[in-house]
Order: sequence, then C-alpha cells, then structure tokens
Amino acid sequence: MKNDLKIVVVFSSLLIILSVSMSFINFMVSLDSTQKDLKEYSLPLSVDNIYSEIQTHIIKPNLVSSMMAHDTFVKDWLLNEEENSQKIKRYLQMVKNKYSMFVAFLVSEDTKNYYTQDGLLETLDKDNPDNQWFFKFKNTQTNQEINLDYNQELDNSLIMFINHKMIDEDYQLIGVTGIGLKISYVDEMLKHFRQNYNFSVYFVNEDGKVILSERKNNNLKNLTDIPELAKLKEQIVSKKANVIEYSKNDMKYLLKTKYVPELDLYLIVEAKIDDFMNTEYNTFYINLFISLIVTIIITFIIIYSIKGFNKRLEYFANNDPLTNLLNRRSFNDNLNTFTKLSKRTQKPISLLFLDIDNFKTINDTLGHKTGDEVLKRVSSILRENLRQTDIKSRWGGEEFIIALINTDSKEATEIAQKLKEKLENDLSLIKLVNKPITGSFGVTKIKAEESISLAIVRVDNAMYEAKKSGKNKVVLK
Ligand code: GH3
Ligand code: MG
Ligand code: MG
Repeated sequence: MKNDLKIVVVFSSLLIILSVSMSFINFMVSLDSTQKDLKEYSLPLSVDNIYSEIQTHIIKPNLVSSMMAHDTFVKDWLLNEEENSQKIKRYLQMVKNKYSMFVAFLVSEDTKNYYTQDGLLETLDKDNPDNQWFFKFKNTQTNQEINLDYNQELDNSLIMFINHKMIDEDYQLIGVTGIGLKISYVDEMLKHFRQNYNFSVYFVNEDGKVILSERKNNNLKNLTDIPELAKLKEQIVSKKANVIEYSKNDMKYLLKTKYVPELDLYLIVEAKIDDFMNTEYNTFYINLFISLIVTIIITFIIIYSIKGFNKRLEYFANNDPLTNLLNRRSFNDNLNTFTKLSKRTQKPISLLFLDIDNFKTINDTLGHKTGDEVLKRVSSILRENLRQTDIKSRWGGEEFIIALINTDSKEATEIAQKLKEKLENDLSLIKLVNKPITGSFGVTKIKAEESISLAIVRVDNAMYEAKKSGKNKVVLK
C-alpha cells in the first residue's frame, strides 16, 4: 500500500508539473502574441481609423476656413472699410449653411469687429478675457489654429474653431476668419475608442500641449506633466509615426503616434498593456483550475484502478480462476482459523474429499474444454448444495476438498451421500458428457489436538478406498 501511495503521489505530481508548465508556456506565448497584435495590428489600425474619421470631419472645415481666408471678396470687403455689413452677413450665412457649420465668422484687424452669419456681433476688446483668443492668435507665427471653446450661450457643447489669418499683398494682417463647429462627434469617437478598445486617444501640438481629447477624461494637459512622457516628447512629437513603449507607476503602456499635417497636430493612441491581458490571465487561471480538476480526477482513477487491481490480485492469489473456489493455500489458511475457533467452541469440523471418477476419459474423448466445463459445473453443484460457511476448495486437477463447519462425521457422511446423488443425477453434466458423472467421496472428522494435514491424509485415504471399492461411493474414516 505504501508503494501504491508513492506511485499515486509521483504520478499526480508529474501531472500537476506538466499541466502547470504547459499552462504557463501557453500563457507566456499568448501574452507575447497579444502584445505583438496590439503593436502591429490593433493600435496602427485604430490610428488609421481615427485619422480617416478626423479627415472626413475636420479636414473639410479646415479647408472651408482656409478658403474663406483666401477669398478675394472677403479681402476686398475688408479693404473697402467694411462697407455694407449685409454683404458679409450674407456671405457668412452662405458658408455656414452650405457646409453645415455652427458658426462662420470674420474679425477685422482694422476695426476689431466680429461678424457672424447674424451680422456684427461685437467689437473685440483687448481687456475682455473672452476676446483674448484673437489677440493671442494675432501674435503667433502660425497662419492657422484650432481652438476649442465651450459655448456658454448654447448648450455648453464643445465648439472647435478653426481660425485662419487673412494677409494682404504686403503680408500685413487684415483679419481673422474661420468657422466653428460642434465637435461632439470627436468626443463620441474618442469615447468609442476608449470604451470599445480600451484606448485613450488625444492630440497634442508641437509643444506637447494636449489640444484635443475626450472631454470628460481629459486628465492630461501637457506631455511634460508626466515625467515618463516628457522624456519621450522628442519621439512623440515627431513627423514620423512611432510605436513607443513606456512604464508609468509599474504599468506598461504602448503609444502609437501619427502626425496629422492638416491640423499640425500629433495623434496619440495609448493602450495600457494590462487592460489587454485580462483574457490571457483569465485563460491562465481557468487552465490551472481545469488542470487541477483533471489531476484530481486522474488521481482518483489511479487510486481506484490500483485498488481494483490489488483486489483482483488478491482474489487470484486465493482463488482458482477456473472454478472460483478457494485454492489449496487459501483453504489451509481458512481452515486453520476455523480449527482454532472450534477448539474454543467445541464445535466439530469434518472434511469431505471428492475425486471425479474417470475424468481423464472425459478429457480424452470429449476434449479438455468439456473437461473444464465439467469442473465448473461440479463446483456449482458444491456451491449450491453446501452452506456458505463451509470452506470449499479445488485441491488439484479434478479433486475438491471441503471443510464442513459445525458438522460431525455422521452429518458429513449424509452430506457426501447427498452430493454423490446430486452429481450422478445432474442433467447439465449428463448433457455435457452424454452419461452421468460420478465421484468418489472420502469423509472424516478432524480430531481434537490433531494437525490439519493428518486429517487431510486420512480423508484422502478414505477417498482412495472409495475408488478401490468400485468408485461412486462414500467412505468414512
Ligand atoms: P480416477 O477415476 O481413478 O480418479 O481416474 P481419473 O481419470 O479421474 O484420474 P487421473 O488422475 O488419471 O486423471 C485426472 C485428469 O484430470 C488428468 C488431468 O489431465 C486432468 N486434469 C487436471 N486438471 C485439469 C483441468 O484443469 N482441466 C481439465 N480439463 N482436465 C484436468
Ligand atoms: Mg485424481
Ligand atoms: Mg479422478
């Protein structure tokens, strides 16, 4: 049993080691492939999708704004001292409606008047904080800028203004024109990428300042606010598309960048690698759990098989495989126990020896197989006609010995007589060999203080006497 336990432990441990290492290798491979997939497929694809979305939604207004800045009618109108504001109102109305903008506007550098599709709205004032955008933009080097502003008057939605400087032939600033449009779709798009793909998307300018990002998730104001990103600014703010890996607070991130020339902004799509590993982690844990269950099941199967195997081994060590009666060794063991018991209880035990008559002839005439069938049937007759407590065994070839418990010699002789008749008249045996089968029986009682072997010799002799006196007899000795 100790050895069996060892086998079970070794086998189960091997199984556990094997399945855990397989799961681990699987896990590592899938981690690697997920990262690779993210780097080479998901991130670039998202960048391309966002870029084309941006192109369809922002490039057009940008072109419209640029077109307005170069429109000779607008330039001429400004240079003609802004005569007849109805004209510019109609022009701005036309632009606004044709391109479905939220607002189309024009600011004169000369008068600081701010015109929209509704006519003159106000005159910009240097000291008014709301008007600062104009004075700031005027002083920048760029001819175009994108400004994000919340429209307090309307529904507080985010408006993107695309402003363009208007320059005369002498390269002097004569005004700023442009359009404003609600950019809830940008917010929606960025939200979509965050919710569906776990990507955070934002746009920065050359200085690393975040210009466009999801409104409610806009924690980052500038790349330089995060030391890890500040170090990578050169790489991020580059005209060349890049995939950058960096760590922040022990978390790994992947950045895919792309320069959007039309806006002069850098698109950044960021993925926190751990967010993409959940499936892998879950698969790993599920695999481990399944391995454990399988190992437990296999361990039980092994224990069960070993138990069954041992049982069979034990059975065949004690029983005769052909007749299923006890073998000689087991008979002796059992009888030993019973004789010890009978010495205390004073109950008699008798022995009965049966040798089938002329069995060799059956083998010789009808074959060994029929001989075996006869032996099996004789065993069944013994089982059917004796008590369960009697110790029934196959002593050798066609010889059987039975210890009759709590039975004296008289009763034993009667039992032998009964068996003799049953054997002779058994229809199954007659059918098997076409004539009755008979047996010679020896009977004796095991005497007190006598060894079992001595009693066996006596009962064997009794059987011989039965043979010698013509077979199919019972002899008591
Ligand atoms: P007797 O009446 O004097 O007992 O003669 P017998 O032919 O019965 O006795 P003998 O000892 O001459 O022959 C016994 C035969 O039983 C010889 C042996 O081949 C056969 N035998 C022994 N074991 C088996 C067995 O398991 N199967 C079969 N078919 N035959 C067996
Ligand atoms: Mg014999
Ligand atoms: Mg015989």
